[in-house]
Amino acid sequence: MTTYEPGQDVNRSDVDEATRLVLADELSRSLRGDVRFDAATRGIYATDSSNYRQVPLGVVFPRDEDDVVRIVEICARYGAPLLGRGAGTSLAGQACNVAVVVDTSRHMNRILEIDPERRVARVQPGVVLDRLNDAARAVDLTFGPDPATHAWCTIGGMVGNNSCGTHALRYGKTVDNVQALRIVTSRGERMRVGACDDAHYEELKAGGGDAARIVEELRRLRDDYATEIASGFPAIDRRVSGYNLDALLEKNGFHLARALVGSESTCALVTEITVTLSPWPRHRVLVVLGYHDI
Ligand SMILES: Cc1cc2nc3c(=O)[nH]c(=O)nc-3n(C[C@H](O)[C@H](O)[C@H](O)COP(=O)(O)OP(=O)(O)OC[C@H]3O[C@@H](n4cnc5c(N)ncnc54)[C@H](O)[C@@H]3O)c2cc1C
Repeated sequence: MTTYEPGQDVNRSDVDEATRLVLADELSRSLRGDVRFDAATRGIYATDSSNYRQVPLGVVFPRDEDDVVRIVEICARYGAPLLGRGAGTSLAGQACNVAVVVDTSRHMNRILEIDPERRVARVQPGVVLDRLNDAARAVDLTFGPDPATHAWCTIGGMVGNNSCGTHALRYGKTVDNVQALRIVTSRGERMRVGACDDAHYEELKAGGGDAARIVEELRRLRDDYATEIASGFPAIDRRVSGYNLDALLEKNGFHLARALVGSESTCALVTEITVTLSPWPRHRVLVVLGYHDI
């Protein structure tokens, strides 16, 4: 059994069966939420809505952000990869992997705030889109992007996939509607990220720790590749593939939250999301077009 120091690079999963059982035991003793490393749960979580099948090491259901921090710290020590999960409706295997699956839909599913004046909502990642929109509609607002899975998909999963839906044509993709995120970094540090002006950048840098490392490295990446990013990202409204490096450009406000949207849980675990709400349309019309032939 190999163990790792916090922040040490792990290049492959060294989690053999003995390590997996030790990990399950330590997680069970440390978390307030549930820990399920049994065969049935692993079977259920071995797939999402895609054709891929990857049996996870186990599944955890954190109660709160403190739990997420503990999960990251413990899993890092044993070199166990992590994967966030909402409703698991991903179509391309984004929500299944040989990893410890962190399902926020069971406990971290509260709407924390809806502010009709500022037209923003603050939610935990496991909130189902329709539940947010039920609450937002009461004040004549809506969260615009709406995948066909709106009755099940979570806001955390929408952030992970940069989800769209038919009305994204009007309201924009998830990335266009995310203002800020609370995240837990791979070293188990908490961070609030959003647009980052020079003053905020200096503040984060001076604060040290993982936040300083991350903003400095991202700023360097942005500066080194600004020309390539500006010219290489096609201006297509529905572009959802790849990392949103264009969000880091100066003209886009060095937006760390939007750069994370679409990163499919590969960079950080999201524990809280602040989104823009849009006015609920007064009238809706369904247009059905018929053609004589294809
Ligand atoms: C029938 C069908 C129709 C669909 N229609 C559409 C559509 O119209 N438009 C569209 O855009 N998509 C569509 N999808 C795809 C999918 O439903 C959406 O992308 C949905 O928003 C995913 O949400 P989820 O909660 O199921 O996320 P999941 O599948 O559980 O996760 C999605 C990604 O987010 C990551 N993630 C989840 N939670 C966290 C977290 N807390 N921290 C970090 N990462 C996290 C996961 O690791 C994964 O990479 C469709 C899928 C199906 C099956």
